[in-house]
Amino acid sequence: VPNDIAGFGLDYKVRLEFGPGRVAALGELAAGIAAPGRPLLLISDRGVAGTGLVDEVAAALRASGHAVTTVAELAGEPHDVDVDRHAALVRSERPGLVVALGGGSALDLAKLAASVGNGRAGAAAYALGARPLPSSVPVVAVPTTAGTGAEITRTAVFSAGGRKLWAWGPELRPALAVLDPELTVGLPKPLTVACGLDALVHGIEAATGQRRTPLSEAYGLRAVGLGFEHLPVLAHRPKDLAARGGMLLAACLAGLAIDLAGTGLAHAVGHALGTVRGVAHGPAVALGLTACLGWNVAGAPDRYRELARALGLAEAADASSYDLARALERRWRGLVGSAGAGLVQVAHTLDPDRDRRALGAALRAPENQPMVQANARPVDETDLDGLLDRLFDLRAGLP
Ligand SMILES: [Zn+2]
Repeated sequence: VPNDIAGFGLDYKVRLEFGPGRVAALGELAAGIAAPGRPLLLISDRGVAGTGLVDEVAAALRASGHAVTTVAELAGEPHDVDVDRHAALVRSERPGLVVALGGGSALDLAKLAASVGNGRAGAAAYALGARPLPSSVPVVAVPTTAGTGAEITRTAVFSAGGRKLWAWGPELRPALAVLDPELTVGLPKPLTVACGLDALVHGIEAATGQRRTPLSEAYGLRAVGLGFEHLPVLAHRPKDLAARGGMLLAACLAGLAIDLAGTGLAHAVGHALGTVRGVAHGPAVALGLTACLGWNVAGAPDRYRELARALGLAEAADASSYDLARALERRWRGLVGSAGAGLVQVAHTLDPDRDRRALGAALRAPENQPMVQANARPVDETDLDGLLDRLFDLRAGLP
């Protein structure tokens, strides 16, 4: 155990079902959770509905004998008004179970609605832990992307008043996560890559940050190993079921890791980019990590030696902070390149003259402080200016 780790605890109740075709058991699983006679509420989004998967899952749920109400209206990432609309449905339908089907956005929306709908206040009232969340209708989370780990975490992200905010509490943890790699096979490549990079950033930040424990390190590093193995495969063979399964496990393990240890500066940058320029979460945090990884390693090398070992960089793991930083940066940028993430194009949407002040303010906003403070290398005021310089420099290409 590294000597900078003090005591820690673990109070965890997570139920998982993993395997190709596992979604076929959803009716049976739902019947084991929802009280007899209570309806089920299936919450998804427009993208998933377009693939026919919502109808398929609704049919599997009806096999349980419960009535099923379906709503698949969300487009993009959720806002407080989306949560409030779905929470109203929870109040009127009184479901015995909410089934969340989709990517991180749909899962976060359903998690929030299942809890907020059991209280009177709107979603915005619960932002940043301003008040305790109501106890939740049980949620079964069925991810169709491998990324956020929302199927397993106690957090959910939503926008309100033009800011990207979060809610946190044990009420938001799903009762069951059903991980079926077949559901992710049809996901287009850009989304596959964007979500996969988010999972990798989760693994890296939770394994190295100030709040890391041996458990977040174990989950995070295994997630990173799986992600580096399988994401490049999916960039070339998107229908590879084994690689899909590997990424789904990577995302879930990384979710367990951030649930224990939080994220770091890459996520603070990512949320700032979401608030200021509307950049989607995956590319935003991947760009954030690209801007801060070398700086982080150079200032806190001992937090990154196990990461280097997990990535097969045994020599760099024992090298100077400079060589370790260079090796890890090269490895990360190599992965971003081989996955075809297109981060330079994302960086190109930024304009220092227009965006510097707003990004600086967003990085310093209260909603991003937990991430800044949990970062592997302690961050001070001038560090944030240097970080923005490096972020804008990425417009010239990823060296
Ligand atoms: Zn993330």
